[in-house]
Amino acid sequence: MYEASQQLFDRAKASIPGGVNSPVRAFKSVGGTPLFIKNARGAYLYDADGNRYIDYIASWGPMILGHAYGPIVEAIREQALHSTSYGAPTELEIDMAELIRSMTPNVDLIRMVSSGTEACMSAVRLARGYTGRNKIIKFEGCYHGHADAFLVKAGSGVATFNIQTVPGVTAGVSADTLTAPYNDLEAVKTLAREHKGQIACIIIEPVAGNMGCILPLPGFLEGLRQLCDEEGIIFIMDEVMTGFRLAPGGAQQRLGVNADLVTYGKVIGAGMPVGAFGGKRAIMEHIAPLGNVYQAGTLSGNPIAMIAGFTMLRLLRDQPDIYTRLEEKTLYLRSGLDRVLAASGLPYRINQLGSMISVHFSEAPVTDFASAAASDIERFKRFFHALLRRGVYLPPSAYESWFLNDALTMADLDATIAAAEESLREVL
Ligand code: PMP
Repeated sequence: MYEASQQLFDRAKASIPGGVNSPVRAFKSVGGTPLFIKNARGAYLYDADGNRYIDYIASWGPMILGHAYGPIVEAIREQALHSTSYGAPTELEIDMAELIRSMTPNVDLIRMVSSGTEACMSAVRLARGYTGRNKIIKFEGCYHGHADAFLVKAGSGVATFNIQTVPGVTAGVSADTLTAPYNDLEAVKTLAREHKGQIACIIIEPVAGNMGCILPLPGFLEGLRQLCDEEGIIFIMDEVMTGFRLAPGGAQQRLGVNADLVTYGKVIGAGMPVGAFGGKRAIMEHIAPLGNVYQAGTLSGNPIAMIAGFTMLRLLRDQPDIYTRLEEKTLYLRSGLDRVLAASGLPYRINQLGSMISVHFSEAPVTDFASAAASDIERFKRFFHALLRRGVYLPPSAYESWFLNDALTMADLDATIAAAEESLREVL
């Protein structure tokens, strides 16, 4: 079933570390052969062996409208005829900045970069430069990219591969990264007390997607906002996964909590390599060339990435019923999974908001990294493979959220629920 992928994987390993360009893709933690994808359309991925999969990764979030969406493909094709990069300003960048500002709360100025890592790294540098403080607070199991400061108690691949300390991250950097359990406001307050006047920012995934999907408990984000106001700490919301997905204005709009700075990633390029950070004018004005907090990028604002993202975001702005549909589909999937999981007799928890959802095989509620890690990870791996064999492609780790896209049909969701029912019998 996976012969062509296996051959490609063997070939890849000779030239690429672990055969992949991003670790979670290697299937190392779930075992088996990573699928080499040949193409994708709508809600489906096709691998090198010609197998078809219903895609719940959506390129880790951005493919909200599905793959190879006609107007986006056309826009990219048209722009490519006029060159792929200029290294000079374009009107398209202004259109993009204006569109994002019109859709999202609390974004006065926005700077484009080329990845989520860059966006978060730059936002933290700005928070440090603006406050003159060195320390940051992040949450166990949250992932903000692979910049040194974020690899302390990180989620996503760092959690999947159970890497406790990342070699190459200096003790000095680690010492400036303070961590607290997600949803534990008291722990954050304690850190703020112990390091009074030293904390530049709190960075958080407002809905976590890198330890499975984990929702903020009522009052948690509001409490962080208040603490930041009291202590002069910059509140950074990492909306790399939630931005333009949970609502046109992201988690800020959906949950009604304001950030000082916000970061975006792949979603604003409709899957092209892109990211951005933005926020309050008084803070953003410290970025070069206005201020001395230096940040730059040859490919920042790349025209292909801009036209792809602009085309998608404008569609999302003009057709808000997409969000209603996505939510209805996710709730339908959720109730179907609920039914077959309950019938299986296995302990489980489903966490979901908007079109983000995940299943943990856990008796206890999953509200932070510890409770996610206490779930039955081995069972998840078997569930993953059983579904994969039935043509359903989940993220290959219990520490990732699943993402729905608008191209999914009710028949796809029914097929997924039926496949889950069969798979659960297999993993019992
Ligand atoms: N922040 C979050 C919340 C993410 O999920 C990710 C990647 N999945 C990043 C930052 C880093 O983005 P990138 O991989 O584009 O550098």
